[in-house]
Amino acid sequence: MKCPQCSNTEIQSTDKFCKVCGLKFGEPLTCIGCDKHPDEIEEYIEAAELNDMTPVEYVLEEEGTYNGFEPERFYCTECYIKAGMPLNGGQE
Ligand SMILES: [Zn+2]
Ligand SMILES: [Zn+2]
Repeated sequence: MKCPQCSNTEIQSTDKFCKVCGLKFGEPLTCIGCDKHPDEIEEYIEAAELNDMTPVEYVLEEEGTYNGFEPERFYCTECYIKAGMPLNGGQE
């Protein structure tokens, strides 16, 4: 298996992240717009710190767009605004 982000080809199927670039696997939790993981998005890193959570936990519990458009994905605020602030697919 090869890392999609760097040239590391030594990835085992049991690895949770790339030992070279740190890319995480098996977590589809990324922004629909920018494809970033909560760990890479400043607003979630800061909000998570304030709430004593991890960025992932914060998105799972607090991000209203999570699961609203695509399973296990969300819109970060920037992409949500860029997308024209769509409403969740009738799930209100
Ligand atoms: Zn890598
Ligand atoms: Zn985004």
